Amino acid sequence: MTRRLVLATRNAHKVVELRAILAGAGLDVDLVGADAYPDIPDVKETGVTFAENALLKARALAEATGLPAVADDSGLCVDVLGGAPGIFSARWAGRHGDDAANLALLLAQLGDIDTPHRAAHFACAAALALPDGTTRVAEARLTGTLRHTPAGTGGFGYDPILQPDGDTRTCAELTPAEKNAISHRGKAFRALAPTVAELLG
Ligand code: IMP
Repeated sequence: MTRRLVLATRNAHKVVELRAILAGAGLDVDLVGADAYPDIPDVKETGVTFAENALLKARALAEATGLPAVADDSGLCVDVLGGAPGIFSARWAGRHGDDAANLALLLAQLGDIDTPHRAAHFACAAALALPDGTTRVAEARLTGTLRHTPAGTGGFGYDPILQPDGDTRTCAELTPAEKNAISHRGKAFRALAPTVAELLG
């Protein structure tokens, strides 16, 4: 029997992306977004790590729906900034989700930093929570170097400035399939998939 799994996001694009990732990992689940449960309030991300925030979101959704739930939390970590913006990636310039302002501020902050010192990675924690309180987390990274100027029109967030190690393009110049294959989110959810399969029976 196909089991229902709820994803802690109201972003339809993320649901489609995760469906492809889980199907690619051989998992037969009916993945629905939190939009299918409109009365459930959004969770405050009060954790100080990606894993804590992913777990907060997954746990709250599993409790509210009585169904197994998955959630992710992700961000960009810049070596020379000691790992910032990190968990503050989505609101680095002050307003949540203003991708253009976040990217512009980060580039300005790194203005004097030469390419050899521009190492950074995207990080993702993928969490699973069951209604009985069982939880699991998998974490993964996509490492690369930050460009001085944005390139590419695909993706979102900081994609136009992160050039993955071993590539000459930025993440915004990759196809969605190419990015899923190497991305922090793709790798974290593929790492979590066998555990989801095992725990959902
Ligand atoms: P969240 O996990 O949806 O909360 O994402 C946090 C923020 O991290 C996003 O708003 C982006 O700024 C950044 N981010 C996370 N993953 C990516 C990615 O794959 N590409 C570009 N930016 C990302």
